[in-house]
Amino acid sequence: MYVDAHIHLSDSQYGDRIDEIVAIAKQNEVVAMVANSMNLETSKLSLKLAEEHQRLVYAALGIHPWNANQLASNELEQTVGFISENAAVKGKIIAIGEIGLDPQYAKRKEHKEQQGRVFNRMLQLAEQLALPIIVHSRWSAQEILGVLPSYRLNGVLWHWFSGPLELLPKIAERGGYVSEGPPVVFSDRIQEVVRHVPLERLLTETDGPVRYYGPFKDKPTTPALIPEIVRAVSEVKKIKESKVAEQILRNFADLFDVQQVTPVFKHSFSRSTTTAHLVI
Ligand SMILES: [Zn+2]
Repeated sequence: MYVDAHIHLSDSQYGDRIDEIVAIAKQNEVVAMVANSMNLETSKLSLKLAEEHQRLVYAALGIHPWNANQLASNELEQTVGFISENAAVKGKIIAIGEIGLDPQYAKRKEHKEQQGRVFNRMLQLAEQLALPIIVHSRWSAQEILGVLPSYRLNGVLWHWFSGPLELLPKIAERGGYVSEGPPVVFSDRIQEVVRHVPLERLLTETDGPVRYYGPFKDKPTTPALIPEIVRAVSEVKKIKESKVAEQILRNFADLFDVQQVTPVFKHSFSRSTTTAHLVI
């Protein structure tokens, strides 16, 4: 059994293909997908998908750093309101994401400030709702690592973490997880990351519909890629594939606290303690 901890099911490229994507996930023994959001509109859609495909699709709601400077007036507070109002429904909204910082999309001072404001507001919300976060840290991992200790967070997933490698011990030490996707198959850099992350801190993702190079060139990105990612992790870490898959499933249940709502997780795993995941 497999998990896709980070996919943009609400992206228009998936549009009316959702049923097909769900079928592909099931065929490939993907038992959980986390539908990540970019803004208010996709947050609404992600939640709708989680409602329509219970026990398979879970929602991560929030504002992506790429959108921080393109929000409609009051969209930030409307998004916070929408998430807060719906957060009580156990087992649907399982994280705040995708949130973070990305200097590439905030070159001017005022844009950087606005991105920081949105990120901090999302972190505040995650703390208030006791939800884990899914973080985008491209060229900003060091900065994000500096911001997080100001919040009591119930878990952090560093999605597509690409470095610097020397931050990994700190990330693991603070209870963070790292998820990697198709680049594990073909990118030396990501293989290096996977080599350095303890298996107990690793998750798998596709970040679909993002397209990839290497063996995935011209291939649509769907959860069908997850078994190949697990195979690649197994090769890189020299750990049996079945053991890798099982531990990743356990990590997923542990981080997102889904064993109560999903039978597949229920019997095998129980969350140790909430405090174990607090980022201090
Ligand atoms: Zn993403």
